This record gives sequence, C-alpha cells and structure tokens, in this order.
Amino acid sequence: MTDFEGLYLAQPILRAVAEEGYTTPTPIQARAIAPLMDGKDIIGIAQTGTGKTAAFALPLLHRLAVSAQQTKKRSTRALILAPTRELANQIHVCIKTYNKYLRLKTAVAYGGVSISGQISKLHHGVDILVATPGRLLDLERQGCLRLDWVETFILDEADRMLDMGFAPDMKTISDLIPSQRQTAMFSATMAQNVKGLAEKLLNHPVKVEVAPVATTASTVKQRVLFVEKEKKRSLLAHLLEDKAVERVLIFTRSKFGADAVARHLERNGVNTGIIHGNKTQSQRERAIKGFKGGRMRALVATDVASRGIDVDGITHVINFDLPNEPDSYVHRIGRTGRAGASGTALSFCDIEEKAFLLDIQKTIRQDVEVLEDHPFHSDKIANDPGLPVKKKRGGGGGGRSRRPYGGGGGGGNSRPSKPHWKKGGAKKAA
Ligand code: AMP
Repeated sequence: MTDFEGLYLAQPILRAVAEEGYTTPTPIQARAIAPLMDGKDIIGIAQTGTGKTAAFALPLLHRLAVSAQQTKKRSTRALILAPTRELANQIHVCIKTYNKYLRLKTAVAYGGVSISGQISKLHHGVDILVATPGRLLDLERQGCLRLDWVETFILDEADRMLDMGFAPDMKTISDLIPSQRQTAMFSATMAQNVKGLAEKLLNHPVKVEVAPVATTASTVKQRVLFVEKEKKRSLLAHLLEDKAVERVLIFTRSKFGADAVARHLERNGVNTGIIHGNKTQSQRERAIKGFKGGRMRALVATDVASRGIDVDGITHVINFDLPNEPDSYVHRIGRTGRAGASGTALSFCDIEEKAFLLDIQKTIRQDVEVLEDHPFHSDKIANDPGLPVKKKRGGGGGGRSRRPYGGGGGGGNSRPSKPHWKKGGAKKAA
C-alpha cells in the first residue's frame, strides 16, 4: 500500500508508479492530482525536479483510461506542449512508463527530425501527443493532425515557451482546440506574461504553487568560485580529479565554448558529451544516452539544451560561465538535487561576471557561499568591492575540507540522499 492509492488512480497506473519506486506523492502531486482528476483547470507553479510531470501525467492517463472515447484518425485526445525537443522526449518517456499497463496510444513530435515517421504515427490517431509548438503546427497545416478532438490541453514550462517567442503559436494552437476542454499550465515562475497567458487560456483555474518564484531547490548546495577567465579550464580539470564528482553537467555560454571545454576534458582523460544547438538531434540523443548510461562522466551544454535533461544522479552542475539571466541559473542548477536528492552547483565567476552573480543572488534571495579552497582562487576578484557574498573556507563544517567539492554540504556525506517521499522504494533495480 502506498500513499498513491489514496488518490484513487486506476490500478494499472498505481502498479506502474509502484514499480518506479514512488511511494509518496511529491507536494505538487499531492495538490494537483485530485483537481486534475476532477477535470478542473489548473495553473501549477513548480520547478523541474518537483515531480510535476507525474503530477499532470497520472491524472491525465486516469481520465483517458476511464472515459469511453475512442481515438479518431489523425487526432489526439490530449495534447501536451513543451518548449524543447529534449523536454518533449522526456515527458513522453515518463508517460510511457506510467502507461505501461494501460497501453494508451502515445506519440511525440518535434522538429529537427524527419516528419514522416510522426505523420504515420498520428495516422490512426493517438490518445496523447507530446509536441513542441512549431512541429505541431507544421503537422496541423499539412493536414496530418486535427486538434478538434482534444479533450485535455497541457502546457509545460509555459514561461519558457513564452521566453522562446512561442506566444503566437500557443494562441493559434489553443484556438484550434475546442473551448470545452480541460487546460493545465505549468511554469517555474508566475511572471506577468505567464499570468496574462493563464487568463487567456484557463477557465477558473485552481492555483497550485509548490515553490516561491525563482527559488532554488534546497537540496542543491551552491558555491561560487572566483577565478580568472583564462584559468577556468585548469580549475575545471582540477575539480574533476575528485572522484566525488561522479556525474557532472557543465554549462557554457557559447557553443564554441562548449566545444573547447569538452576538448579540454577529453584531453584530461574525462569522457565527455556535448549538447548544443549546432548538434543534430541524433548527436544530442547519443550524448544524453552516454551520459545517462554512465559511459560519459561529463556533459557540456548550453542553455538551449538544458531544460529537458532528466538524468538521475547528476552529482554536480558546474557553471563554467555564469548566465546573465538569473532564471537560467535557477534552471541550470535544477538539473542536480532532483527529486529531493542532494547535489552541488559550482559556479565559476570571473571579474566580468560579478554583475551576473549579484543579479542571481537578488533573484534567488540568498547569497551564494564562496569556495576559496582551490588553487585558482582569485582574491582580486573576491575582494572587488560591492559584492555582498558570504565568505566561507572549504566545503563547510569549518576549516579546510579535504574534499571541498563533494556533495553533502556542511560536512555531510557525499552520496546523494533520498528525499522523504522516496524512502522505502528504491527506483527500479537500484
Ligand atoms: P520532474 O519534476 O517531473 O522532472 O521529476 C523529477 C524526478 O522525480 C523524475 O526523475 C521522476 O522520476 C521523479 N519522481 C517523480 N515523482 C516521484 C515520486 N512521487 N517519488 C519519487 N520520485 C518521483
């Protein structure tokens, strides 16, 4: 018996969820599943890593399974929109997992790959389609997909879709779906433009908020390392000498920078994958697979590629370059410390990036501790006036830590720990 049983989800769903090792619903699941099962519209403010995918996927599967509606040719009964192909893929993978014993028909559609496979998949109709806005409209305009049978419309990472300029596409798509429908929208923030969109698309929504706007997950230990630009690569190689840095996601500002960092790591004997906008879909998929499977210890990415990466056990996120957008920082470091496990986010900051750091600290409403205990620390950057950051030596717990880069913070252990809602149920074969 798990706490999920109290939510009255169909048995085949409960079975799949139990096999995943979920025992207790996460806070967003505890609050969103019931209203969604009741057919209500909802606006969910939640970061990735909170379990929001299952929060909308489980009630969606339940409603589709218990209703007698059939799929229609070239149609879908539920549409989930996501900003990037990585996220669309990730959502689809989750849905397939929870759908294992229901066997509803699902499909995923995004650009950058051949459209013909997607067309044939949609030909006989599906129950759930996960898609990015551009490819979805392509399919619709080519007459390969009708949206007039959609019963449930879900927008994931709506804030990101707006940031990426998808507002007109989202409006067009919404207009193609019957107004008699259930709509759910998820966003990491409730920015003004998100509010505006919610007012247009949702009907008396239930609001479910599990984390205040732009807060970082408390399970992520954050540190900033002051380092001159030209020493960043050496610092990175030095950090990776620590075995506690088991699986690391590294962010750079540019594609060129990503390539250079990856080359440097490879030269230092670290198997490294790269994902950025110049990589083809299959190259990106191969890199994520290698990283997920443990063949690559490091993955270097630009922001474009960061959203949909759901790889368990990322012990460290390293901001090789600090992002100029505080929101990007929040999303980047959200790749570790997922599902309540602990993780470490290390940010390199050169003199030009100090303004970014200040901005980030203002947004996340906390100071990021400085980690000085490494050979490339720059006092000059640290002592530059006007930087209101707390100073602390080593990895915490007082004094110099011999393993300042390991997880755990405050002298704790370096293995990611399980959150309270994951206890007792190891995920899969773990
Ligand atoms: P999400 O925020 O949807 O990207 O989910 C983050 C991670 O949490 C994924 O790896 C999920 O498999 C996992 N997860 C979601 N719900 C639960 C749960 N109730 N118990 C344990 N793990 C979960």
